[in-house]
Amino acid sequence: MPEIRQLPPNVVNKIAAGEVIERPASVVKELLENAVDSGATRIELSVEQGGTQLVRVADNGCGIDPAQLTLAVASHATSKICSAEDIFSVRTLGFRGEALASIAEVSQLRIRSRAAGRRAGAELEVVGGVAQGVAPCGCDVGTTVEVRNLFYNTPVRRKFLRATQTEMGHATESFTRLALASEQVHFVLRHNERLIYELPPTDSWRERIATFFGPELAASLLAVAGGDGTIKVSGFVADPGQSRANNRMQYLFLNGRYIRDRSLQHALSEAYRGLLLTGRYPIAFLRLEIPVEAVDVNVHPTKLEVRFQDGGGVYSQLLAALRTRFLTSDLTARVPAGALAWSEPEAAAVEPERAAEVRRQFVDWARTGSAGVTDRPAGAGPAGAATPTTPRPGTPLPRQTPLELPIPRGPVPPLGSAGWPGTSPHPGGLPPAPWDADEQHAAASRPSTPVPRPHALQVHNRYLVAESEEGVVVIDQHALHERILYEQLREKVLAGDVETQRLLVPEPVPLAPAEAAAVLDARALLAELGIEVDAFGGDTVLISGYPAMLANLDPAETVRQLAAQLVGGEKLPARRDLLDDLLHMISCKAAIKAGDRLSPEEVASLVELRHVVQDAHHCPHGRPTTLVLTREELDRRFKRT
Ligand code: ADP
Ligand code: MG
Repeated sequence: MPEIRQLPPNVVNKIAAGEVIERPASVVKELLENAVDSGATRIELSVEQGGTQLVRVADNGCGIDPAQLTLAVASHATSKICSAEDIFSVRTLGFRGEALASIAEVSQLRIRSRAAGRRAGAELEVVGGVAQGVAPCGCDVGTTVEVRNLFYNTPVRRKFLRATQTEMGHATESFTRLALASEQVHFVLRHNERLIYELPPTDSWRERIATFFGPELAASLLAVAGGDGTIKVSGFVADPGQSRANNRMQYLFLNGRYIRDRSLQHALSEAYRGLLLTGRYPIAFLRLEIPVEAVDVNVHPTKLEVRFQDGGGVYSQLLAALRTRFLTSDLTARVPAGALAWSEPEAAAVEPERAAEVRRQFVDWARTGSAGVTDRPAGAGPAGAATPTTPRPGTPLPRQTPLELPIPRGPVPPLGSAGWPGTSPHPGGLPPAPWDADEQHAAASRPSTPVPRPHALQVHNRYLVAESEEGVVVIDQHALHERILYEQLREKVLAGDVETQRLLVPEPVPLAPAEAAAVLDARALLAELGIEVDAFGGDTVLISGYPAMLANLDPAETVRQLAAQLVGGEKLPARRDLLDDLLHMISCKAAIKAGDRLSPEEVASLVELRHVVQDAHHCPHGRPTTLVLTREELDRRFKRT
């Protein structure tokens, strides 16, 4: 029978070190956290060979008493908590009392410190976990910790270290996170004695962000503020025109601590839904302030992950703050210099007659039948008297008379129970687009005069070009129309206003077993979309009712697509996601295509309708619908400046 033994402290420490100290960047993180906790106003980090040779952090904080130096490097020794209850009210970055002990176990560590009010400092060396004795030394108030030859006594670990450049990348990331969290602290970073960052203290977070990520990105950031009595959200998010291929540019700070949190990252993606292309991630710098009792930071040794008492509340506060921000922003994509090119060579798809007719009927149906859509007499401003629409089923899209404007909607309040933004129509709504603000004001003050139509020109049968206050606006006709239809349809579905047509002959659809089960499970949801399905025996489902608005989509094909979607993900898609995806699909199919020739009235209608949708700047897939080429840009290019 194997004998059970108590492990000696150095083995325990090595195991603990394995959890916390993975690479030089972990040393950087722990030492910088200690320096921040010490109340320092200046922190200097020096790294040699990516930290494999040396990591040194010098601070001007409170310092350590000579009598306590040995304790500082002992395991489970900390000045930051006293009792078990304290774990749930941690206000410092550290509290586990393990970092220095762990680092000392796998390196050659030297710590020099002078406590405030003391005349001299003291020095302690620890080699491979063995303390060499405290000696007096001359030094400034504060603490300097030097870590040399990391993993020199754990060859397995040392073998895992990567190239200097890679390790330095990780170390710099640790530095970035800490320096972003405390912009009022002066930070310095040197690598191999070369100065990399010198960050003087600042009151402007944007300024600190700019030092790391460039003034251009920083200038384009949108400030975010929100929260309720307990949760406070603040910081910045990037305009959807700026995004990344991964989520590493999402800096979330909880009570001053950098954290990674899947649920909050999800809230971010959710806020950008439809604004970014698939596979792109938003950029964000966000701070959450939450009462310390409401968060558990003792989830993981590196304290990167936390547990919220009310995760749902944090999620919705963040989402609401972001949504509110987006609805009050002009997110029109600006053309970056050099990006102007009219070179989309693929031939425009010419739509068959029948499909065009279906499209017309559909558009008309969506327009006249929508709960939130009303006809508006020409000349009435956004607040003008609107008369309810009389449905005109089957009337083809008036090719000669322009589309009339639905009432603009107001800013979207925080999430309702179903997770959708509220959509009740009320006038006022979004700020008018810059390029016809004048027209709108003029129209509001002269209700009886016809609204001057924006002059727009269709080019290449796919883009609409118009003059604006700012310069020239280029609209992607398909993308914009798709967005308009998407919003109108969404409103119908939310209002429970989707008409179902009973099929004369119900249509059987054979599916895979899992798909059939998923479709039948989702029956109630499908019914909201106007799709009625029943079990037909085996793995076949029977479609008995189908929405009028999907007339141009084959029922069996639609159900097959939905089934694939239902079983595709790891978990069942949320009701909202499913509805949303379906709406995307429908509006894409129903919208005017690139290549469709439009009459001047249709061009004008589309350009006008642009102002009634919540996000006219991006199609539901996240592609921009509108580009603005500013006058300054034109002047610059024609060398008029
Ligand atoms: P923790 O930070 O979790 O308390 P550490 O092992 O990182 O554990 O540090 C142990 C103790 O050493 C800290 O609680 C603190 O009292 C002291 N200490 C470490 N670094 C510094 C520093 N830079 N300035 C002042 N005190 C420090
Ligand atoms: Mg610490």
